[in-house]
Amino acid sequence: MRILLVEDERKVGSFVARALRENAYAVDVAPTGEEGFRLASENSYDAILLDVRLPGITGIELCRKLRRAEIQSPILMLTARGLVEQRVEGLDAGADDYLTKPFALAELQARVRALVRRGFRRGEAKLRCGDLELDRHRRSVSRGAGKVPLTSKEFALLELLLLRAPESVTRSEIIEHVWDSHFDSETNLVDVYINRLRQKIDQGHAVKLVHTLRGVGYRLGTQP
Ligand code: CA
Repeated sequence: MRILLVEDERKVGSFVARALRENAYAVDVAPTGEEGFRLASENSYDAILLDVRLPGITGIELCRKLRRAEIQSPILMLTARGLVEQRVEGLDAGADDYLTKPFALAELQARVRALVRRGFRRGEAKLRCGDLELDRHRRSVSRGAGKVPLTSKEFALLELLLLRAPESVTRSEIIEHVWDSHFDSETNLVDVYINRLRQKIDQGHAVKLVHTLRGVGYRLGTQP
């Protein structure tokens, strides 16, 4: 696994790079967007981590440039806390996910694992967990021999959980990825949807797939 980290702050860069290397990733660090673009054009990375604030071209501009150059590596944007526009801009520019600074290393590592996995799965039509299967092309879901009819929001939620599995997904991530920015995060809509998903997927099955991690979020897996 080879990762490109584009980060101008040397301390942050070496700290993150060291943590990823400890997890057996090969890491190249670029201090500018220009250098990042050069490296990404020359090498094939399993994931690219982009800091939004860079001298010269910004992380968002770099992201756009990479996608225009048809560089398909999954991209994680590192954004400033609370700047919703920055996150939306990043996703619009072609990033796959974002992480707000400051972040816990454990979370960064979980995101990178999920990102690398997603890269492998980008072209995959079918996502599976136990006997549950989601077909992204046909937009259909089945468990065992039975079809599971889902609404489009339920489908998007399940797809997100499957892409992240076996890692968990937080409530706010679900809101960001499944609902638009006008969503009122004070409502309990996420819980309502998780419950519906649970009824449709797990009811009548001995092995439960949808798990709640109290205070963390939700996870899909055959193990509780
Ligand atoms: Ca920076």
